[in-house]
Amino acid sequence: MKTEITPPKKPFIFYYLIVLLVILLINFLLIPQISQQQITQASYSDFLNMISSGAVKQVQIENNLITFSAEVGGQARIFQTGMMDDPNLIALLYNSGIEFTRVIPQEASPFISFLLSWILPLVLAVAIGQLLMRQFTKNMGGAGAMSFGKSNAKVYVAAQTGKTFADVAGEDEAKAALKEIVDFLHEPEKYKQIGAKLPKGALLVGTPGTGKTLLAQAVAGEANVPFFSISGSEFVEMFVGMGAARVRDLFKQAQEKAPCIVFIDEIDAIGKKRDGTMIGGNDEREQTLNQLLTEMDGFDSSKGVVILAATNRPESLDQALLRPGRFDRRVPVELPDLAGREAILRVHAKDVRTSENIDYRAIALATSGTSGAELANIINEGALLAVKEGRAKVEQRDLEEAIETVLAGYQRKNAVISPEEKKVVSYHEIGHALVAARQSHSAPVHKITIIPRTSGALGYTMQVDENEHYLMSRDEILNKIATLTAGRAAEELIFGQVTSGAANDIEQATKLARTMVTRLGMSDEFGMIALSTVNNMYLGGDTSLACSEQTSTRIDNEVMLIIKNAHEKALSILKNDQAKLHELASYLLEKETITGEEFMDILQKESTALPEPEEETSATPSDTVDEVNI
Ligand code: ADP
Ligand code: ZN
Repeated sequence: MKTEITPPKKPFIFYYLIVLLVILLINFLLIPQISQQQITQASYSDFLNMISSGAVKQVQIENNLITFSAEVGGQARIFQTGMMDDPNLIALLYNSGIEFTRVIPQEASPFISFLLSWILPLVLAVAIGQLLMRQFTKNMGGAGAMSFGKSNAKVYVAAQTGKTFADVAGEDEAKAALKEIVDFLHEPEKYKQIGAKLPKGALLVGTPGTGKTLLAQAVAGEANVPFFSISGSEFVEMFVGMGAARVRDLFKQAQEKAPCIVFIDEIDAIGKKRDGTMIGGNDEREQTLNQLLTEMDGFDSSKGVVILAATNRPESLDQALLRPGRFDRRVPVELPDLAGREAILRVHAKDVRTSENIDYRAIALATSGTSGAELANIINEGALLAVKEGRAKVEQRDLEEAIETVLAGYQRKNAVISPEEKKVVSYHEIGHALVAARQSHSAPVHKITIIPRTSGALGYTMQVDENEHYLMSRDEILNKIATLTAGRAAEELIFGQVTSGAANDIEQATKLARTMVTRLGMSDEFGMIALSTVNNMYLGGDTSLACSEQTSTRIDNEVMLIIKNAHEKALSILKNDQAKLHELASYLLEKETITGEEFMDILQKESTALPEPEEETSATPSDTVDEVNI
């Protein structure tokens, strides 16, 4: 979409060569060199003879060398002869009226030589630097600090995106919000007549990969207008003043091409809060931001320029950007829900050849929490797998495998894992699965595998819900924590010792328990008190505590208690079910991958303990990709 004219790249040696040449030239011109002329050697007696004949015009004495000019045969020529111990010479020259001088032996004056050897190259280097800089600035199209006059280089190339809303699956709310903009671009008159002011800009907010760029392209495509695209980070360049110049240029060009869409990706790169602290010299970014604000205020929106910007950290944006008349509309672009995921899978599956009976809903169910970009990737990985296995069409199992590839990395089939370790991993995974199955309110086990993945997971247990859930009850969360601790519990129970394989489980369990206490009001100790604030909704959702140190200690205690109880619960479930634990683990060890059905079959046959009723309507919303790191 966006093309840039790259500055012509000449190797630096080129410029050094120029410097060298110039120095040589100056040496050649400035330092007079006698050697350039023809010099004839003469004897001292010739010299005396020529003096007496009146032929000698000028004499120069330097060290022990006499250089003199004389007229021979009507031609001025230069001669040289050696100095003799001649006390009468001076008197003779003087009396003959010849101009003579003694040269103090020195190649050049120290000042000149200093100039030549030090100052000149420096001056040249600076001059060339300036020249280069100017060239860069010009090529980048800015009327930057260094460039004088107006640049006419085209930096931004408007493109027709060819995308429409049909390419964007799901995201109905976002699409509805953007349809108005499309309409406005179609018929600006309609809005002008009634006096309605349309937003100059809309901010697309959401997790990476949710289709923000795609939506912006679709708006341009639907309205059939040019699309200018640039990333916020591209504004902040290495030369001071460039960012502001680029913004100016972008808006100038956009206005020429109006109606059009300008899309600024990662606007947080320039739009961060100006905090007023001068540390770190954020000047460049602030200048760029100020320029952006000025331009947004300056342009006449009735011409039909609409600025769309995308960010995944809206909370870090400067308030000035969000004021009316700027990005006053915020369009959330959320991670897709079940129906959205299914729709996205279908949109992308159109591009590949698939067998007729693919169950997209099953794939969508197994991919809760994934973004549109990941889903697109799953389809592509599935197609790659089909090719690899020599099939002409993508089948269900290709997509199933692709889910794991995308979420957990590629299989490391040739990883060497000792039988002893494999056994530990088998018990660990069955521990998770068994505890999940023996508790009510937890998602059914979909698949268990001990084939290691490139992500570092040595095995994992995948749980897939039958439905999408938006709410989780306290019991469900507690059960989930118990399930997470069950891998480690199985290791303890069977091997009497623990391994590093539970690191990821521990992390997830702790995070869940902490969220229960600090944000969900699910602890007896604190009740409904918000003890932490979310720093970033869209990037990992990290939180920071908003409480006193004493409270923080109490939170830690509460979290520890939750996990300890969950761990004990998991341990007791496994103790009561040791026979099944052994049976399932050795089955998994032998097969390496087992499905949820196989698992349930073994679990239910001649069962000693009654399994929980299996209606599992409400359960954990996401599958557990269980990383077992060494
Ligand atoms: P963002 O800008 O939010 O990071 P992108 O727009 O770059 O995400 O999305 C990356 C890719 O993911 C798109 O090119 C598209 O193939 C796919 N994708 C994301 N969301 C959707 C969606 N809702 N429908 C169809 N494809 C999508
Ligand atoms: Zn685990």
